[in-house]
Amino acid sequence: MESFTATQDLDAVVIGSGFAGLYMNYRLREQLGMDTQVYEAGDNVGGTWYWNRYPGARCDSESYMYCFSFDKQLMQDWEWSGKYPEQPEILRYLNHVADRFDLRRNTQFNTRVIAAHFNEATHRWEIETDKGDKVTAKFLITGIGCLSSGQIPNIAGRDTFQGESYHTGAWPHGGVNFAGKRVGVIGTGSSGVQSIPVIAKQADHLYVFQRTPQFTIPARHHTVDKAFLDGVKKDYDAIYEKARWSNGGLPIDPIERSALAVSDEERLAVYEAAWKEGGFKFLFGSFFDIGLDRRANDTASEFIRSKIREIVKDPDVAEKLVPVDHPFTSKRALIDTDYFDTYNRDNVTLVDIRHAPIQEITPKGIRTEDGEYELDIIVFATGFDAMTGTFNRIDIQGRDGEKLKDKWAAGPLTYLGVTTAGFPNFFMITGPGSPSVLSNMPVSIEQHVEWISGAIAHMNEQGLVVIEADESAEKEWVAHVNEVAEQTMFMLADSWYLGANIPNKPRVFMPYPGGVGAYRQKCNEVTEAGYTGFTISKGEPAVAQ
Ligand code: NAP
Repeated sequence: MESFTATQDLDAVVIGSGFAGLYMNYRLREQLGMDTQVYEAGDNVGGTWYWNRYPGARCDSESYMYCFSFDKQLMQDWEWSGKYPEQPEILRYLNHVADRFDLRRNTQFNTRVIAAHFNEATHRWEIETDKGDKVTAKFLITGIGCLSSGQIPNIAGRDTFQGESYHTGAWPHGGVNFAGKRVGVIGTGSSGVQSIPVIAKQADHLYVFQRTPQFTIPARHHTVDKAFLDGVKKDYDAIYEKARWSNGGLPIDPIERSALAVSDEERLAVYEAAWKEGGFKFLFGSFFDIGLDRRANDTASEFIRSKIREIVKDPDVAEKLVPVDHPFTSKRALIDTDYFDTYNRDNVTLVDIRHAPIQEITPKGIRTEDGEYELDIIVFATGFDAMTGTFNRIDIQGRDGEKLKDKWAAGPLTYLGVTTAGFPNFFMITGPGSPSVLSNMPVSIEQHVEWISGAIAHMNEQGLVVIEADESAEKEWVAHVNEVAEQTMFMLADSWYLGANIPNKPRVFMPYPGGVGAYRQKCNEVTEAGYTGFTISKGEPAVAQ
């Protein structure tokens, strides 16, 4: 971007208008009084919940925790209708937030930021959009989501299919009519596991193309008991505070008991109770070492396998659904509604593509080594180029014209998952190296937004111009993230956490698995010690902090 002529010089540009962008906008504009511009690719707010409209889409965090906590009255006013919030309801909630705080006023929709270059002479970001906007900003902040670049595998013949095809993460706003149709779903991650039971009820016949079987826990989604929600509202501050200091961003008491320190009967009773209650308590509320110790994990993995064999009536189908090549929690833990039971339906066929892989997509359907499946609709529930994919789609350049994509060629390098050395005044909300996708997102998003606005407020108060992560601090943080990841089950499966779902993507564990409480503590310590690991300056010369 040589000789950049801007039409506007702003204090801050925020990319994205999902949970992260909405709150960042609010903080910058309403609390710091900054001249802020938001760019959003969709035609309205919502981010993930704007794009992922596939049947059955809902969040795995309980609704009363899947919301903002920054405004007490908002928390009291909003009424969730179910245990887990469904996509349309979350989108309504985010629209309500946008209306309530007038957050669309400085948001330009249908606009993608395509380039952002840091100008070292002016200490400003020069930002360009696909609509031809050219602006500069002192701060550039991304709220672009961790799972926002959909991945459709490059299967031979993909474009020859004559029926309809959709990716779960770019679902048509008008919905898809499955009635009377032969439908193929490729993929059994969260999106597949949620959509398969719903599509099965609508389609004439559903073929599920499964490469890796999944461990999933029943959600036990039910209408929220009003008395429970009223109780939550009376105690919301304490409940949310507990979540802030928890492991996963949920108000679940830490468990100290080991799965290996109890009798077989007691262990089974704990698992049975958690299975009956449903949701992530099975993971966070049973034994502390399920995600840490392979032998402890085996007990949980084996329990779930026994449940699959119990639920699925055809023993051959059941065996194909039983995960044997990776332990529970090594891939994203899932919760479901009637997932395994769906395979008892006459109109559902499980196609095991681990043993008979897909050879090609044909004009009529999908051909595996076992034969051709004729289809009217293909649903790609095949996931995302997670955590770094959306960054790579923007030409972000820091000092010396270094491209972020090049810097991250061997895996993302960040300090605290919120900044990256060589890219001054650039903040990433729930960037790689932060708890992000391993936590209840709104809790992590609020923590980042508040940390970023705290840093900016500090700079504004002190008349400081440039904040930048030190390379040494970044190196240490990246090493720490890897060290903690090595102690978990996460390294034992091919997953998007490790970039394993994208051809040629470096195999690096991307989110921070140390828990949101420990992470918050670390961020607070950095702030309290005067931004250790950062250099903050008035421009020139730099003053080490
Ligand atoms: P995903 O977890 O990456 O799952 C993708 C699925 O597609 C996997 O079963 C994968 O098989 C399969 N697949 C990928 N490429 C394939 C190929 N070439 N041939 C055959 N199968 C292929 O993606 P996702 O289900 O969209 O979920 C992504 C993440 O989004 C989740 O982990 C979660 O964090 C988030 N999400 C959350 C919710 C929720 O809160 N409830 C809902 C949806 C998504 P392999 O396992 O063999 O790779």
